[in-house]
Amino acid sequence: MLKIKVIRTLIDNYIWLVINGNKCLIIDPNNEPLVTKFLRLYKLHLVAILITHNHNDHTSGVKALKNIYQVPVYGPKETNYINNYTIENNNVISILQQCKFTVLSLPGHTKYHVGYYHYPWLFCGDTLFSAGCGRIFNSSITNMFNSLNKINKLPSNTIIFPSHEYTINNLDFIIANNIALLNNMFIVKHYRRIIKRMILNKIPSLPTSLYLERIINPFIQCTNSFYEENFIKFPNDMNNFSYFKFLRNKKDVF
Ligand SMILES: [Zn+2]
Repeated sequence: MLKIKVIRTLIDNYIWLVINGNKCLIIDPNNEPLVTKFLRLYKLHLVAILITHNHNDHTSGVKALKNIYQVPVYGPKETNYINNYTIENNNVISILQQCKFTVLSLPGHTKYHVGYYHYPWLFCGDTLFSAGCGRIFNSSITNMFNSLNKINKLPSNTIIFPSHEYTINNLDFIIANNIALLNNMFIVKHYRRIIKRMILNKIPSLPTSLYLERIINPFIQCTNSFYEENFIKFPNDMNNFSYFKFLRNKKDVF
């Protein structure tokens, strides 16, 4: 049976591991010593490394792990300096038994950012966070918007595994700016209380689910099908995309 474990690194990064028996693959490892310690502790045999995008806090352990364990690296075009296999949209990766990942191209945070999807799991890197979305680096807001539209087409029971613990900050942004497109601020505040307690007890707020994000995440609520189905009205007669852009810009300076 497939299992997932997580290693917390740096200030707020999560490295996710997908495990089958004693074999595992790892997503965005940024720290070789911590990963090696973890593999020894749980007696796990690393079989592959998957990369979502070319940022140092997602890739800095890849070279060392690749050398030590002699495992293949799968990554998008922007990490081709370290990939064994450069993957693109809709490629299927089958490394672990019972686990076939479909590559989803999710540009926006970076130009060639990808996610890895194995129903009902989505490892989305820095595209979608709980109650927020990724910043725009060398890509465009339109790409980010399209990527969130793409994610929101997945089933509501999709379990989302982002790469950072940003949930409290994202909820604070929503509360401080009174953004409740579904008129459900009481749920946002209630959720924040639960998450705050988890964080204080060193429990990750992640993974999240698409179902939950549709209730609390204004970036997901701006997506085309969601706002239409829920008759959402945006402030100042903005349309869903201009409000999405307005929110992302506002969050950049929060
Ligand atoms: Zn990043």
